[in-house]
Amino acid sequence: MAEEKLSFQAEVSKLLDLVVHSLYSNKEIFLRELISNASDACDKLRYAGLTQPELLDGDGAFQIVVTPDKAARTLTIADNGIGLNRQDLVENLGTIARSGTAAFLSTLSGDAKKDMSLIGQFGVGFYSAFMVAEKVEVLTRKAGESQGWRWSSDGKGEFTIAEADAAPRGASITLFLREGEDEYLEPERLRRIVKTYSDHIALPVLVADGETREAANSASALWTRSKAEISPEQYKEFYHHVGHAFDDPWLTLHYKAEGAIEYTGLLFVPSQKPFDIFHPDRKQHLKLYVKRVFITDDCDELLPSYLRFLRGVVDSQDLPLNISREMLQHNPLLSKIRTGLVKRVLAELKKKAADADYATFWDSFGAVLKEGLYEDFERRADLLELCRFRTTLSDEPIALSTYIARMKEGQEAIYMITGDDLAALKKSPQLEGFIAKGVEVLLLTDPIDEFWPGAVGSCQDKPFRSAAQGGADLSAITGGEGADGAPKAEAAPSDAMAALIAAFKLALGDEVKDVRASDRLTESAVCLVADEGDMGLHLERLLRQHQQAGARPPRILEVNPTHALIRRLAGEAQAEGAADRLADTARLLLDQARIIEGEPLPDPAAFARRLAARL
Ligand code: ADP
Ligand code: MG
Repeated sequence: MAEEKLSFQAEVSKLLDLVVHSLYSNKEIFLRELISNASDACDKLRYAGLTQPELLDGDGAFQIVVTPDKAARTLTIADNGIGLNRQDLVENLGTIARSGTAAFLSTLSGDAKKDMSLIGQFGVGFYSAFMVAEKVEVLTRKAGESQGWRWSSDGKGEFTIAEADAAPRGASITLFLREGEDEYLEPERLRRIVKTYSDHIALPVLVADGETREAANSASALWTRSKAEISPEQYKEFYHHVGHAFDDPWLTLHYKAEGAIEYTGLLFVPSQKPFDIFHPDRKQHLKLYVKRVFITDDCDELLPSYLRFLRGVVDSQDLPLNISREMLQHNPLLSKIRTGLVKRVLAELKKKAADADYATFWDSFGAVLKEGLYEDFERRADLLELCRFRTTLSDEPIALSTYIARMKEGQEAIYMITGDDLAALKKSPQLEGFIAKGVEVLLLTDPIDEFWPGAVGSCQDKPFRSAAQGGADLSAITGGEGADGAPKAEAAPSDAMAALIAAFKLALGDEVKDVRASDRLTESAVCLVADEGDMGLHLERLLRQHQQAGARPPRILEVNPTHALIRRLAGEAQAEGAADRLADTARLLLDQARIIEGEPLPDPAAFARRLAARL
């Protein structure tokens, strides 16, 4: 069959353009990327060979060979792993299907200079080869198949695929080096790069030097070595490999569990939020090994979703080697490992929680961890201890214990308010009374915050209560009242207020559930609150965004008896025919309350008309 010409996916072309023009000085990382891929390919075949030994075809001694050829000015990285067939070549090398590179693309700023310098940090996987090569050729044959293939590209929009005879199993990637990149033909230079970036690779990485081939790495799985022998750089390089990551690990946890169940864990918490952390599949990312053999990186039983930010490996001594992915489901040993992992990770986080940089972790992953409050009943108390919240009194996130320790006299509940945006939330009219009394309120801005307080109920016997829902009960709280000694603002007389409220109720009818005098407002004239048992306003908006909300439940309109406008209106409310005159005012005020809340107006045109009539 003749050579076929195909085009790269548009994103790949864009990426390659950046790579080729990359100004990045640390180009040597291309080798790390290609060795990382070769190692993954060997892991995949080793696993497949457990159940289909014929795939190995007698060759189960996995290795990676790096061969420079000075005469041809080429560098070849060859593995005897799983290999690629035609379809794999098109899908995996012609499109951006995978993690590392997709993460890079998601951070592109559009500023070519900045983006080019990012390439070195991210690696961009296979495509890194084009930093040093003007042409790349892949000669490959997939394990279990007889047809080999040759993939070739100069990285300029197109690639070709042709059948190749006598291709050995696995993949060998040949780089035709650019002018000026001859350093990658020096065996000594290559050995040093392998040692620096790929020492943790568990199979031998041989560098050919004339006739000799010598392993340039330690070739033992990093997690099996003792902690004392591993440098922070080695941990970091391993994290980059295993996590397809590019940042520094925020936390490295390496331990051996002994006793009832034996396993080794080498776990990392990233310092930066992975771009897909809120992907709806909520998949965990740890790799499971059994006696150093890679089994799967797709085992949801290994870790609860709320710890899905973890990267790393778990290597079990006790699971059978020939375990299939299906057998992993509902496996009692695995669930013990899971319990052990959760315990260990939460204990480690607890140790870190007093450190100044805990806020880094919390800002990246707090929203994920809080899912556990909702899902993991057994660990709820531990998780509550790890939670941090911004409040009306603190821009730094604080622990609930701190909140509880400074609750006001007479304050029975932990108050909170939910919304999308911290700045807008701080200005919520529902908070005015709390702020005036010095009562602290948690400012919650993650979608999950709508769900866990209901499930958790209370902390240290103090119930969670919404500051924007039900009665505010502020009169019972005495601790902070008049902190500045200011006299309470004058309120409209209660009979006048009663008349005003009656007029408003008449005008608004079913549009509101109730109208009442507020004790939570001090500055604003009106606000909306949800009734005790009804869905909160922010949750309803969230659900509506996802087309999940049913009919809108009517809300309670609270009016502020101390506000100058309300006092004046109350003064008019007892006069003859007042109800008619107040009807438009009532509607205007209700719409105003909706606007402050961020609710859409049911009839904006009517609002505009009424407003214009008043101006
Ligand atoms: P990533 O490693 O993050 O998946 P890469 O760009 O490095 O992204 O590689 C893309 C894909 O190409 C890999 O996921 C794999 O499927 C395939 N691939 C790359 N190198 C090899 C190889 N040596 N053997 C088999 N498949 C490979
Ligand atoms: Mg890769």
